[in-house]
Amino acid sequence: MGTLDKIRKFKASRPQSSGRGRIRGIFHDWTTGDNIIRLVGEFVQVQTHFISPAPKRRDRGLCQADAFKGDDRLPAIVNCMDWDISQEETMPEKTCPVCALNRLAQQVLHPNEKPTEEEKKFFEKLRSDTNPRTYLKWNILDRDDPTIIQLDDEGGEEKIPGFKIATVGMEAWGDIDGIFDQCGFDISKPEKGVDIKVTKTETPGRRTTYSAQVVLEGTSIKVGSLTEEEQKLTPHDLKQICGRVTEANAVRVALHGDLEQLLVLEGEGSEAERLLKEMEETPEKESPEKETPAEEASEEDEDGDALFSNTGSKKK
Ligand SMILES: [Zn+2]
Repeated sequence: MGTLDKIRKFKASRPQSSGRGRIRGIFHDWTTGDNIIRLVGEFVQVQTHFISPAPKRRDRGLCQADAFKGDDRLPAIVNCMDWDISQEETMPEKTCPVCALNRLAQQVLHPNEKPTEEEKKFFEKLRSDTNPRTYLKWNILDRDDPTIIQLDDEGGEEKIPGFKIATVGMEAWGDIDGIFDQCGFDISKPEKGVDIKVTKTETPGRRTTYSAQVVLEGTSIKVGSLTEEEQKLTPHDLKQICGRVTEANAVRVALHGDLEQLLVLEGEGSEAERLLKEMEETPEKESPEKETPAEEASEEDEDGDALFSNTGSKKK
């Protein structure tokens, strides 16, 4: 392929800029103190892992600092690779290395395992660090600043009205769920909803907390429809925007060496178990009475190593 062909092909593969231009500033940040918002439409449930070091907490994190630098850097927060965001359910096949570490930590901490105090401390932290976190992604109208930024092709910026995407943690959700109950109807409906106030409280040296309550007018709940202009706004495609998939292997190789090593051990363990099970099952499937001729047995011995590769025994 000539260079010009290559350029044409490259250009054709680039996303075309639509007349509307690109947008920015769509992710809502909870500010310390009160945030007045209106939830609109359905939320999408995500499961995430925080995988980067946290120097402020003097925490090395799960992955090495280098993995978060450069062009192919990992995001500090990744979607759990075992979570199918399109279906909003757990994947049938588990590939998430962070969840694998979580399962391992749980196994080690089982009372039967009798870990030492030091091991207990290490694996309790690992279990907590690797536990997937549940969040709800929601289109909201940010009453404090209901605008997003539109970029034109010349790099100009313009503030336009638009939905933002809020990330609601389980603590705030507990209160919001209560508001749904209290109101007795779907408060995220555009025609008949209520504004809510989410309060973020930051106390030095303590965990940041979130609470939510309904916005009152006098002493009663203020129920209202979105304005005509607001109803015309297009909600963001939450699954598409929040569903970025990180390659499981990219996370795995970025793990601190000792954690990656744990995964190797865990992998070997389960692979060996699988093969043992397979070897136990195989004779039953064939005829149980048939005795294995000596030659066949020795062949199998020679082939022993192949048994421990993925399909060694199945191919026969
Ligand atoms: Zn996971």
